[in-house]
Amino acid sequence: MTSRQIQAIRGMNDILPEEALLWEFFEDTARAWLRAYGYRAIRTPILERTELFVRSIGAVTDIVEKEMYTFIDELNGESLTLRPEGTASCVRAVIEHNLLYSGPQRLWYWGPMFRHERPQKGRYRQFHQVGVEALGFGGPDIDAEHIVMCARLWRMLGLDGVALELNTLGGSDARARYRARLVKYLERHRESLDDDSKRRLHTNPLRVLDSKNPVMQELIEGAPRLADDLDEDSLRHFSDLQAKLRSVGIAFALNPRLVRGLDYYNGAVYEWVTDRLGAQGTVCAGGRYDGLIAQIGGKPAPACGFAMGVERLLALVSDGAASASRSAPDVYLVHQGAAADPFAEQVAERLRDHRVNVLLHCGGGSFKSQMKKADASGARFALIVGDDEAQAGEVSIKPLRELAEQVRVSIEEAADLIKKSVISDS
Ligand code: ATP
Ligand code: MG
Repeated sequence: MTSRQIQAIRGMNDILPEEALLWEFFEDTARAWLRAYGYRAIRTPILERTELFVRSIGAVTDIVEKEMYTFIDELNGESLTLRPEGTASCVRAVIEHNLLYSGPQRLWYWGPMFRHERPQKGRYRQFHQVGVEALGFGGPDIDAEHIVMCARLWRMLGLDGVALELNTLGGSDARARYRARLVKYLERHRESLDDDSKRRLHTNPLRVLDSKNPVMQELIEGAPRLADDLDEDSLRHFSDLQAKLRSVGIAFALNPRLVRGLDYYNGAVYEWVTDRLGAQGTVCAGGRYDGLIAQIGGKPAPACGFAMGVERLLALVSDGAASASRSAPDVYLVHQGAAADPFAEQVAERLRDHRVNVLLHCGGGSFKSQMKKADASGARFALIVGDDEAQAGEVSIKPLRELAEQVRVSIEEAADLIKKSVISDS
């Protein structure tokens, strides 16, 4: 009797080898990109104390109210949460290890995030982000750097049609003034608010602007604008940022409705959006969060950053771009015979010493069936080892992707031949 099959959790995806190629292409590209801008990696645990996210993201936000995977650690009664995003953990680690003591930090992180949302295309319960944080930087130059960086990554990935939307949330005074005006407006239209918005009317009215509910859009369109309450500093920062973007030729649209779903933002905020992913059109989002470091117990310091959704980006990357990263081995090694089998294992290791990628045939079978597998593997060469070759300490090498004779050579000669051909091709 076979047991019942066990399946993955809804909204949490396996990335199978074919698709993993695309992920590797993305990861390699992203690492080269981050190095080019001098960002250094930081790796934090996937589990954190729940309080970290409540305090940073905000108690009255979608993420904290209904999307977090939170549970009690039975052993000590602590409330723990699978991280729903990366900024809070990054900032916690920077404070805990006093990294700002040695000056401002340019950091990046990468990995799975967890949110209990309704799974659909581009929206999953485990998804991946690459995030960038610049801590201890206050000026618009670093905001501009982040945006310029993103634009370069889109080029490196071969993406087009990703558009930039910008807004500024101003300082806390400006937001308090605006909040009062917004509440008045929303109260006047109380009957048209959906349940979420009614609840948020007094706890977190700005969040109403972030509603994805189509029936709310008209009301949101008519809401007063934060721009009218902005303080001078925010306005200057924002106009400097825009001037910098114009001077490097980065197009953007101002979107006064852009408020972001997390409470920690202030000042300039932005999203990169595409119309190719339906309702899940935001591929990258970020902005300034000058208050966050102090909010979770650090010495006040300005900061800004962004995070991109890897699944959404990969949905935009063409197969062509990814096929650049080859997965086929250089060599498929076929072998048969009492002396040939152990010799083949040595040959494989010797070739790997020469940085040749070898797929060693396992599981026996006739030469003919092994050659079929060699062909299907996509390898450029089959290496053939029979007892004859084993006795002579040699290998036969047969090109699989071009018309050429099979030749018998030493292991060193084989390594040379293979490497020359792989290099001339790439
Ligand atoms: P959305 O409005 O689409 O819910 P968000 O504002 O909640 O996005 P952020 O918290 O800003 O998203 O996260 C940054 C990026 O991470 C998003 O722009 C998106 O590309 C990606 N992302 C967020 N949530 C998910 C998810 N559940 N599945 C896949 N990607 C996600
Ligand atoms: Mg969301």
